[in-house]
Amino acid sequence: MANGIGELLPPPRLMLTPGPSNVDPRVYRALATPLVGHLDPWFTEMMGDVQGLLRQVFQTQNRVTFPISASGSGGIEAAVVNPLEPGDEAIICVNGTFSERMAIIAERTGARVMRVEAPYGRAVDPEDVRRAGKGRKVKLVGITHGESSTAVANDLNAFRRVADELEAILVVDTVSTLAGMPLDVDGQRLDICFSGSQKAISAPPGLAPITLNERVEQMLRARKTPVQSWYFDLTTTMNYWGKERTYHHTAPISLIFALREALRLVVEEGLSARWERHRQNQQALLAGIEAMGLEPFVETPAERMITVTAIKVPAGVDDRKVRQQLLDEFNIEIAGGFGPLKGKIWRVGLLGCSSTKNNVLLFLAAFEKVLLDQGCKVPAGAGVGAAVRSYAETSAVATGGKK
Ligand SMILES: *Cc1c(COP(=O)(O)O)cnc(C)c1O
Repeated sequence: MANGIGELLPPPRLMLTPGPSNVDPRVYRALATPLVGHLDPWFTEMMGDVQGLLRQVFQTQNRVTFPISASGSGGIEAAVVNPLEPGDEAIICVNGTFSERMAIIAERTGARVMRVEAPYGRAVDPEDVRRAGKGRKVKLVGITHGESSTAVANDLNAFRRVADELEAILVVDTVSTLAGMPLDVDGQRLDICFSGSQKAISAPPGLAPITLNERVEQMLRARKTPVQSWYFDLTTTMNYWGKERTYHHTAPISLIFALREALRLVVEEGLSARWERHRQNQQALLAGIEAMGLEPFVETPAERMITVTAIKVPAGVDDRKVRQQLLDEFNIEIAGGFGPLKGKIWRVGLLGCSSTKNNVLLFLAAFEKVLLDQGCKVPAGAGVGAAVRSYAETSAVATGGKK
């Protein structure tokens, strides 16, 4: 069939999923930058720019801060297999697919893993972690900042306090929150924090930025056994991203160029302005959804993520048909639920470049049209109207009520 294969011409999709998000033209241009060898002095110097930008976005001074050559799941893997050795005790907070993935990876290290669970749609209760860890020698507490499979956010400061009491390190999955929701690695004393390039950073998928502090570096130096994974062994990858720049594996050069440009965009916008943009757009989305008579899946407002919103699929409506029509008729992609939530929720991501007023208003209008076609009675124009009012209110707040 080789002769029949034509040029790649993907449809112009609007990606409103929990990742990948839409990518800025500047980042596409960076992706097309001519290659330079991954050990070329020009490249190894440029790597320092990327590390400096990542430190700004994570808000940390940590020496060990760099992008792992892997998707977000590789970030989970690295964050867990490096500190844990067989026989260690760990607590993993599980309230969705991604935190469960962290528990599964931790279990494979031979550590004794206690899962502290919360029902899907709820945040984990830090008291449950305190109880589970009482009288034990817990080395690590793992948690997601935003569990994007359910759109639930956990309050990291509360888990920091409990981890302090247990004298454990805190490992935080910020794959779907970094650069979209307030996070301060040094200020909140997060020992290991990792993310993904394709979510609120809006670079292509394939890189997992990670940062870890001095305490974790010491923990790695004190290991009695080698890290079970060669590829994700940070004690060796650190040498490529450290002063030595020694070969470990061939870095995904083009992806690093793209990440650098995406991080430059984050820093140009400013973290506070970026968080506020994400907040205002989600508020408008929620106002629209509720005005249409739909319900957010996460009932407690304080437990909602800002970057991903889950909506309950109303009774009698076919989740898949709605998503398919949004794609076919409007080129808009949203996500469904995983596992027990399959068919029960939609997940709408407003991440990075995808978080704009235009996208919120377009989505609400398209969603209304599709729901009406699928036999779901929604009041005409209510969603867009409520979103417009929400913007009028939030911009009044943003400008202090002045013009
Ligand atoms: C998307 C996501 C992941 C997994 O990232 P991949 O890039 O798909 O491997 C992990 N954790 C959270 C919270 C996520 O949102």
